[in-house]
Amino acid sequence: MPSAPTENPSAAPAPAAGLQLADLFDLTEIQEIQDAFARATGVASIITDPQGRPITRPSNFCYLCEHIIRRTPTGLANCMTSAATIGRRHPESAVIQPCLSGGLWDAGTSICVGDQHIANWLIGQVRDDAANDEQMLAYARTIGADEAEYRAALQQVPRMSREQFLHIGAALHLIGRQLSHLAYQNRQQAEAIAARRKAEQEREHLVQALALKNRELENVLYTASHDLRSPLLNIQGFSRRLAQACEDLRGLLAQPDLPAGPRDAATPIIQEQIPKALHFIRSGVDKMETLIGGLLRISRLGQVTLHLQTLDMNQLVQRTVAAGAFQIQEAGATIEVLPLPTCTGDATLLSQAFSNLIDNALKYRHADRAPRIRISGQIAGERVIYCVADNGIGIAPEHLEKIWELFRRLHPTGTTGGEGLGLTIVRRIVERHDGHVWVESAPGEGSRFLLALPLAGPIRAIAKVSA
Ligand code: ADP
Repeated sequence: MPSAPTENPSAAPAPAAGLQLADLFDLTEIQEIQDAFARATGVASIITDPQGRPITRPSNFCYLCEHIIRRTPTGLANCMTSAATIGRRHPESAVIQPCLSGGLWDAGTSICVGDQHIANWLIGQVRDDAANDEQMLAYARTIGADEAEYRAALQQVPRMSREQFLHIGAALHLIGRQLSHLAYQNRQQAEAIAARRKAEQEREHLVQALALKNRELENVLYTASHDLRSPLLNIQGFSRRLAQACEDLRGLLAQPDLPAGPRDAATPIIQEQIPKALHFIRSGVDKMETLIGGLLRISRLGQVTLHLQTLDMNQLVQRTVAAGAFQIQEAGATIEVLPLPTCTGDATLLSQAFSNLIDNALKYRHADRAPRIRISGQIAGERVIYCVADNGIGIAPEHLEKIWELFRRLHPTGTTGGEGLGLTIVRRIVERHDGHVWVESAPGEGSRFLLALPLAGPIRAIAKVSA
């Protein structure tokens, strides 16, 4: 019978952080390897956790172990203790010793992930010629098994030379070491995948939070600009009445019986001061009306439902260009439209975006040359990148970001008309398509506005993002 365990099995460290063999390997494949190994070498085999609890099904177990010893409570408990002991961490070689239960020869190697011991691969249940039958039979009494049955089963246990078993133990150790390396790599890979998944989830949450904030902001924008309209109409209405009252007063001043003193005093007030003040009020009101109108347009853009479809962009852009034919001719511009890939989008909104970019290319043309506009597109991964390029005045590097801001104009007092909204609208439209837009420019030479939009196909995905 075997001597006392060389190491206390209960001290075997539990797998850290709950890491298990099944987390890192396909257990069906591991079972196949174990079965093949047992078949090829003639030993029994099983893989257990560090405490000796089976993970795989036994291969090639002998009748004595499977049907007699392991069927008694003491025998089974001793088998598990033995499995934990023989499979303990022992990096230099396999542990080879008589089983702490039935006393047959066993060997074991540990499977580890870095410092974490996750499993024991055990082989054995063989006896060599030196085995002492009487000593082994005494164990039947210890565990309360039928002695005659035990004796018969013991005779059937495969015999193997000690030397042969040592070779098999050495091979087991090499395979166990490779499994440990593989387990380590698999864990690294699993951690990398988990980290990427987490980052993707966080990004998804952020995108959703941002979309929610955007919607809230657009609601506030809509309510504020909508509510500002009625006081504005009041001011417009009453300033018209004031202008009318001024007109009436002018008529009164013209009456001949009015004393010279009051007339002289009232004349500059009625002729100059009040009209001047009214002029300022009107231009202020006009400005506010433009701003409120702009805010309303932007906020409506966020609320409008997208009608997504696969768009023939050649047609869409040609139609947009045709709609602006008059301004294009007036400016003496040439527009070249190269073959454009299709994309998924809302026809009305995208037409508006291209129209704004073409308008700008005409407005911000260079004084020394006729405007040339080139519209192209190419597929890049899951996106189509469209480009509206011009040979206009260009944009200084420090303004490349600012031009997208609401009401931002780089030429507020210049000759070009505009409210500083065109590019804000373009950006909002593209964002509603889950795309992005940016500009590249060489001051004095021209600019390239680039719109990355989804390729034709995943319509539902965008509808979700932009809802
Ligand atoms: P607006 O044209 O009404 O001023 P936009 O939002 O369309 O408003 O454009 C913002 C600013 O960006 C413009 O005032 C102009 O200075 C600059 N910009 C836009 N498009 C171009 C372009 N194609 N070339 C040079 N500058 C441009």
